[in-house]
Amino acid sequence: MAKKYPRIEVDLKKITHNTKEMVRVFKELGVEIAGINKVTCGSVEVANALIEGGVKVIGESRIEALKKLKDINAEKMLVRLPMISNAAEVVKYADISLNSEIKTIRKLSEEALKIGKKHKVVLMIDVGDLREGIFDEEDALKTAGHIIELPGVELDGLGTNLSCFGGIMPSEENLEKLNRLKKRIEEKYNIKMNTVSGGNSSTTHLIQKDKLPKFVNQLRCGTLLMLGTVEVTESRMDNTFIDAFILKAEIIELKKKPSKPIGTPNVDAFGNIPEFEDKGQMTRAICAIGRQDVDLEWMKPVDSNIEILGGSSDHAIVDLTHADNKYDIGHILEFELNYVAILRGMTSPFVYKEYVK
Ligand SMILES: *Cc1c(COP(=O)(O)O)cnc(C)c1O
Repeated sequence: MAKKYPRIEVDLKKITHNTKEMVRVFKELGVEIAGINKVTCGSVEVANALIEGGVKVIGESRIEALKKLKDINAEKMLVRLPMISNAAEVVKYADISLNSEIKTIRKLSEEALKIGKKHKVVLMIDVGDLREGIFDEEDALKTAGHIIELPGVELDGLGTNLSCFGGIMPSEENLEKLNRLKKRIEEKYNIKMNTVSGGNSSTTHLIQKDKLPKFVNQLRCGTLLMLGTVEVTESRMDNTFIDAFILKAEIIELKKKPSKPIGTPNVDAFGNIPEFEDKGQMTRAICAIGRQDVDLEWMKPVDSNIEILGGSSDHAIVDLTHADNKYDIGHILEFELNYVAILRGMTSPFVYKEYVK
């Protein structure tokens, strides 16, 4: 049967390779990786590639994605704070969840008891990025005390998230808040917690600088395993692949046209006023892929002589002027995807997915 386009080819061996390599590097530092699969829209194939690479915990942000993964051989973590309305499903499909609201945690405990489970709670602490987590330390101390009293949940540890909403870099200083709170909670309530979850892939920059505090024993990584990149330092980890996700899109128009639009300029389809340089006549192609399916700013042509000019919901327009004359109608152009483009592409029902083993 003819292959269908647009299509993302996912090279599972590359993802497993990246994971093995990162699990090895982190293990030397006493850090476990929770493999965050959310960019793939709950792909069982990718989750299994991460597991083959050595992760023991798989994280997703949506319960619907965890449902798809219900038969995989790993502990399952919900990384977005649970919705209280959905507590029954959370304890059914996740073994661990990240939490900051005692009201929700009480409900999780109740629901877990009903099905005879003990659900693990990681209490999220906001150390400055101002997305999820308890900011006030006394409040965190009190909440921990309440969690310990609940029979259906176990306080597995503390966690934080950075470089997301506030764009704050993980540092030895801001992570110290986790260490301080861990000690205070353990002393006050005479307990031991297992996990200090020091953030997402961005915290890897402290590993690059040999500055990851010893008390951090888990990072929750998606980007790092899928792409090998540490975006906060715009760098890559050695011996990783960046091209496990390749988008293939078909050329539906190929013509010589001017490079600057003709007529009175106004807003484009997305309300922006585009600017164009006059580069004379161009060889331009339209690919059957658009902003509904990918993010054109977060992908790049594999053929470095091709440039993406822009696009609309359903079209990507590329400059083929400097490419060889080998392209024609019906030919396939390949693009390397970065995080945001993978996220949208894997989520789009209009993009076929092919897993290469
Ligand atoms: C998305 C997410 C992660 C993983 O982020 P990456 O930057 O892809 O490693 C970790 N933790 C939480 C809470 C998340 O929402």
